[in-house]
Amino acid sequence: MTSVTVRVPAKVNLQLAVGPLRDDGYHDLVNVFHAVSLFDEVTAAPADALSVTVEGGSIEGVPVNADNLAARAALLLAERLGVAPNVALTIRKTIPVAGGMAGGSADAAAALVACARLWGAGDADADLWEPAAILGSDVPFALLGGTALGTGRGEVLTPVQTAGRFHWVFALADGGLSTPAVYAECDRLREAEGWRPAPPQASQDLMAALAAGDAHALGAALGNDLQPAALSLRPALRDTLAAGREHGALGALVSGSGPTCAFLAESADHAGELTAALSKAGVARSAVQAYGPVPGATIV
Ligand code: ATP
Repeated sequence: MTSVTVRVPAKVNLQLAVGPLRDDGYHDLVNVFHAVSLFDEVTAAPADALSVTVEGGSIEGVPVNADNLAARAALLLAERLGVAPNVALTIRKTIPVAGGMAGGSADAAAALVACARLWGAGDADADLWEPAAILGSDVPFALLGGTALGTGRGEVLTPVQTAGRFHWVFALADGGLSTPAVYAECDRLREAEGWRPAPPQASQDLMAALAAGDAHALGAALGNDLQPAALSLRPALRDTLAAGREHGALGALVSGSGPTCAFLAESADHAGELTAALSKAGVARSAVQAYGPVPGATIV
């Protein structure tokens, strides 16, 4: 068997509603995931032992040992299949690291698909759902792609119908934000305000906008309960969001736990203009254009 390469998309959360802190330390979430055309690629090749190589522009902080989520995925799958985890994983990263776009989870999903094929586990996609959910609450969505509603800790997924294609610009920041630190800051801010949130609900305006392919309505319905916490930890992101709005973004929000900011554009041309304007404004390390929805982890 020769090597297998899998392409896997980043996600942006169109709605991230965070409920009260549960006794088990997690939050109930309503999470509308949307897969966008920023892709990592993971290649799995036969080898004498497990190894991880990471390539790409900004890969600081990505582990090249068994802590890498792709390696954890390979180890878990090998154990379940009863095979030796002898695979050389090469990860080509485009998804920003610790950027709130679930790059590590994407690589885990890609590694599951690549290793399943390499080890002849058959096409039973369903067999990958359980290990995916064990690896992390964002991993099942990276398998599925498209647009989906996640409930529970985010891992119970229902596909959401959308019409057409939405055009996005992502402003990438220098350095990442730790997801646990952003949740902790969210809890701290709520505690300080004496505010206990109601159980989270999916936004019907958002669902209607997606079904109609209406970018203006979608821009108005975007929401992220983690945004105040991300802005508290990284106040400069306010300027980034303001710059996007000034240049006509239909919606502007922090992606997941940040610090990447997402801007919805009217069209591909508008996204191109917005990308150039954000790059020139000096409010981000770089700005990149993408579209969604796109499929989940796919063998190329
Ligand atoms: P999320 O949106 O799911 O909260 P994120 O996009 O903010 O995640 P990731 O890029 O997934 O963050 O990475 C978070 C941390 O996970 C990194 O700082 C790194 O230490 C670790 N990590 C482990 N494996 C990977 C991987 N394959 N790619 C990136 N980071 C990884």
